[in-house]
Amino acid sequence: MVNVQQLEAFIKGVRSRFEDMLGQMVEVPSISMDPSRAADMRRMADLAVQYLNEMGADAQIVETGGYPIVSGGWTTDAQHPTVTIYNHMDVQPAQEPEWIQEPFAFKNENGMYRGRGATDDKGPALSALFGARFAIEQGLPINIRFLWELEEEIGSPNFVAGLKNRTALPRPDSVVVSDTIWIAKGRPAIPYGLRGLLGARLTLRTGTKDAHSGLTGGAARNPLAELMEVVHACVDAKSGKVKIPGFYRNVVEPTKVEIKNFLKSGFHVKRFKAAYGFQSLRTQDPAEVTSRIWAAPTFEVHGLTGGYHGLGVKTVVPGHGELKVSMRLVPKQTPEKTFALFKKHIAKVNPNVKVEREGMLQPFQGLFEGPYVDAVKRATKAGFGKEPAFVREGGSIGAVVTMQKVWKVPILFMGLSLPEHGYHAPNEYFDWGQASGGMRAFAHYFAELARMGKG
Ligand SMILES: [Zn+2]
Repeated sequence: MVNVQQLEAFIKGVRSRFEDMLGQMVEVPSISMDPSRAADMRRMADLAVQYLNEMGADAQIVETGGYPIVSGGWTTDAQHPTVTIYNHMDVQPAQEPEWIQEPFAFKNENGMYRGRGATDDKGPALSALFGARFAIEQGLPINIRFLWELEEEIGSPNFVAGLKNRTALPRPDSVVVSDTIWIAKGRPAIPYGLRGLLGARLTLRTGTKDAHSGLTGGAARNPLAELMEVVHACVDAKSGKVKIPGFYRNVVEPTKVEIKNFLKSGFHVKRFKAAYGFQSLRTQDPAEVTSRIWAAPTFEVHGLTGGYHGLGVKTVVPGHGELKVSMRLVPKQTPEKTFALFKKHIAKVNPNVKVEREGMLQPFQGLFEGPYVDAVKRATKAGFGKEPAFVREGGSIGAVVTMQKVWKVPILFMGLSLPEHGYHAPNEYFDWGQASGGMRAFAHYFAELARMGKG
């Protein structure tokens, strides 16, 4: 078990080193989305290798065909269980005018670590690394590997290629992903499910050009109105209920226990509304809001184009229209099957509408109970003084689904970010409270895994 006094002394002792390392990392603008940052991306990978080495871990750069993966850690004995910790070292762009500082100039204000990438995801990565360093110093019988991706913010296009390099990235016994956000400060939250995604573009052409409605209206077909009819046939706009036949066939409703957990996360409808600037919602009930955003599928209309969008009203009959939609999917739904249902339905409603798929992501179903979950619960309690609430995420993390598919091992989440940290937003920061709690939680989790053995 963990020697708590030694752990506290360790955490106190490494604080300035942690801050120094985080500062250096934040100052590398590793924006994977921006092709002009290619040299910085390499610099980031080199710095990550250097830091792993300085911590006493082995480290290497694994080429993927795109930006590389950094792999490193401690392999103590083949008989020991191996855990891989996933983080990413690339960051979002930072052009928002609201930045009150240079986003890539690190600032440490009494344990508030300001700069792009501080909370997403460099700070959590380093916290886990220091937790691991302590576990290794204690001689725990465990192998700890780090997998730091550099293409997470662009949807992990080459992740699967890197992962198949088995000598560089051996299959672990379990994985921890540390790249998620709690719902509220002081209330650790751990997701165990992610929604998938299916995007589609629908186009309808009924003429080669726009026509005057005074000359043609009545006889001319109106593609925008027909596309709106298609939407109406797919979703009840008021309730959000999807009307595509078979859409809900494999959907599993969250259980009472799950919903109880959602409510324990510190979720507040009022705060949710304020955060996103909503004036009204489909429901005010917190159980229903959380179930809807985390555990239910959706059909969303993102845009309808064609015709006239300028000032006033121009009486055209558009020659064509285009509709952009997507569906969030929950575990047991698949984008492939859902797309087939969708296409079949559209063909029935309006056979002239052309349907094209625009990207898809599989949903993810993680563990909700069992020894790994119990270990995460105890480690989180030890790290932050409170048992975590088990929630789901409404979005998708492509790398998680890939690891599940390629490795087929349990994947757990231990995120350290808070909503106020400004994930993907201006004035992003991380803080020592989350960093030190994270080191503590990870150190305890490694001890739990070591005790569980290779099972
Ligand atoms: Zn992230």
